[in-house]
Parts: sequence; C-alpha cells; structure tokens
Amino acid sequence: MQPLDRSTIWPYRDGEPGDFYYQRYAHPTGVEAERVLGALEDGEALLFPSGSAAITALVLAELEPGQTIALAEGAYYGTGALFRSLEGWGLRFLEFDQTGPPPAGADLLWLEAPSNPFLTMPDLEAAVAHPGRVVVDSTAATPVYLRPLDHGADYVLHSATKYLGGHHDLLLGAVVCRDKAAAARLREFRGRTGIVATPDSAWLLLRSLKTLRPRLERQTTTAAELAERLRAHPAVDEVRYPGFGGMLSFDIEGDARQVEVSVRVITNATSLGGVDSVIETRRRWEGDRVPPNLLRLSVGLEDAEELWADLEQALSKA
Ligand code: PLP
Repeated sequence: MQPLDRSTIWPYRDGEPGDFYYQRYAHPTGVEAERVLGALEDGEALLFPSGSAAITALVLAELEPGQTIALAEGAYYGTGALFRSLEGWGLRFLEFDQTGPPPAGADLLWLEAPSNPFLTMPDLEAAVAHPGRVVVDSTAATPVYLRPLDHGADYVLHSATKYLGGHHDLLLGAVVCRDKAAAARLREFRGRTGIVATPDSAWLLLRSLKTLRPRLERQTTTAAELAERLRAHPAVDEVRYPGFGGMLSFDIEGDARQVEVSVRVITNATSLGGVDSVIETRRRWEGDRVPPNLLRLSVGLEDAEELWADLEQALSKA
C-alpha cells in the first residue's frame, strides 16, 4: 500500500516548493487516490471531505448568482435541501423528471443514477443534447455500472462515503471532471476555500477501491435475488430496483417501522453502500415526498439466504 503521509508541510528544495508543500493544496495520498478514481471514471478526479462538500464546491465554483440548477426529482433529499440553502446566495433551482428532457434555460443539469431512494435512471442522451452542463451523481451506480463521462456528461459526483468507501468507515466525496480547465478551476477553489479531504480518508479509499468490483458484483447478485423475492411477497406493494447495484426500496402494506425494528442480521441504520446490510424507513428524513411505508435497503456482503430469512421474519411483524 501507498504509505499514509499526514504531513501538512514538505520542505522546499533549493528554496523552491515542489509538488507538495502545504496539505491544503495537495497531499500525496489524496493525489494517488484521485489518480485511481480518475482512471476508473476516465476523467480528472478531485476529493472532498464528504459528498455534500463535493456538491457545494462544484456549484459554487462553476455557477454564478442568478444561474439555475435543474435537479432530478426524487434525487437524494439532501442535495435539494443544500440547493435550497444556497438560494440565499443567488443560486436558483427547480426540479424535473430526469427520465425525460430537461427544462429549457437551466445552466446546470443535476442527474442521479439511480435516484435515491426512487431508483429512476436519467435520460442521459436528452441531458447531453441540452445546452446546460451535466452532472451525474453516480454514487449508487459507481464506475462498475456507469461511466457518465463516456456518455457525454461534464462531471461525475460521488458520495464516496457509500460504495466507493464501502465499509461504513469513511466520509468522503469526489467530483470527476471531463475537462482539464474545469478541474483546474475546481482545484483552485478547493485550495482557497479549504474544502479538503484528509490523507486518512484518502488512504481508506485507496484500500476500498481495490475491492470495488467484486463487492458491487456480489451486492448486485444478492440485491437482484432479494428484489425478486420481495416482489412475490404478499406484504410488499411495490419494489424499486434498477437491475444493478446494492440499493433497492420497497413499500409495504403494514407498518414499516415494525419491520425496521425487527431485523436482526440487517442493521437498522441510515446510509448505504457498505459491506453490512442496512435498512430504514425514509419517511423520518424525507417527509411527505416518500410513501409512508417505504423502506430503503442497502444490501451488503452477507449470505443471501440469511438476509432473506431476516427480511421474511421482519415482514411478518408488519
Ligand atoms: N449523493 C447521494 C446519492 C447520497 O446518497 C448522499 C448521501 O446520502 C450524498 C450525495 C451526500 O454525501 P455525504 O453523506 O458523503 O455528504
């Protein structure tokens, strides 16, 4: 493994700063993690201390007051909440159905592949045909299932806290840029504002990226099996699963709170993308925009039969 270098300063050579001189501008562990992630997405990656920090930095660096973001309806609720709070600084935002054409006049199109927790996929072709720049939050697809830059997107966004990190032990975000000039602007903004990821989390990301594909493949096999069984279960109304990845959501006829407190193998917790399966009702966070008995399940690496037995016994309590 690349050694973990926590230095905040590195000595000048012959009175001149080298590649690394002050951690806020760059550090070797971060640069190496960015190289690996950039190669996976076929673009130039920049790390941020969380997915939310990456979103904030991208819109503040790339947009001006008065410009409009068109956000995919049903995307991660925190993204909309963040854009709403930035309206105070002059950014505008509206929501649209990402499975169809984006609204005219938007400067930045913010898609999510697939949306969390509604699991819709964006119409990327319609988005890249629009004059606005295109961001794809690809947190749940990961480069294993989608490389948005290859489809003409301008930026990929990751909450690396989820599948890229994959172990529920690091908080991290990333923006991957198609254009080198955009990456340079964002790097300069990051250095000035100090929205910088630590060497420790970059090191953990490097560890995690080594197992990204086998983790995602196994999570997909198990999630696809569980989605099929849930569809056939009498207590389950609707199952949303795009056919890949480890995240799914479903609505049940009884009381979803009883299900989430009854699981024993699966953990009743928030977030997604880790090796341990987690489940929660989303109503507590998202309010009326989600059905009252919607459960979001993030499938980990446990045995599929053990997970199904746990879901079955928990569903019997609904
Ligand atoms: N994007 C998506 C799709 C998410 O699910 C999340 C977090 O849940 C974020 C962005 C925000 O990332 P973070 O929690 O790392 O700030």
